[in-house]
Amino acid sequence: MANEAPEKPILCPSAQPDVPDAKVFGVMTGNQEAGLRVGYLNEPQPVTPEILAASAPAAPTEVMRIAAPCMGHGCGHFDGSNCRLATRIATMLDPVVRSLPRCAIRPTCRWFRQEGPDACFRCPQVVTDLRAANELQRDVAGEHSQLPETALYKGPGDPPA
Ligand code: SF4
Repeated sequence: MANEAPEKPILCPSAQPDVPDAKVFGVMTGNQEAGLRVGYLNEPQPVTPEILAASAPAAPTEVMRIAAPCMGHGCGHFDGSNCRLATRIATMLDPVVRSLPRCAIRPTCRWFRQEGPDACFRCPQVVTDLRAANELQRDVAGEHSQLPETALYKGPGDPPA
């Protein structure tokens, strides 16, 4: 049918900021000792150089949750039909909330589509890149997910380290 609206892309809710169409949909609150939690924004914000610079000296993915179209086979977490990261989150982490967070990306979130509310009950504790992850967090994240200690955010135009 000519008038059908194009389907919206399925979003990865733990994306890197340089993926096309990336949007910030949550900001980490709290601290590592007490436990970091996502504060979900009412309206996702496009990733801009100004928003990225606001996270310095942390990396954007340490302090923001960013959504972007799921890369499917381009992502190491995808097994051809499912996101294994979503499965690990839903099965290995304890829930941290008892009701669905007010999350603006739920209609197109891959983790929710695949794991349902079990993903959302655990999602607020997920930090995309943790500098000092514990063993469980490293197991859930999988390989190559942790930032190296030296990976401080470089703003646009900053010289390389
Ligand atoms: S898992 Fe749930 S709370 Fe987390 S981003 Fe997806 S829809 Fe939002």
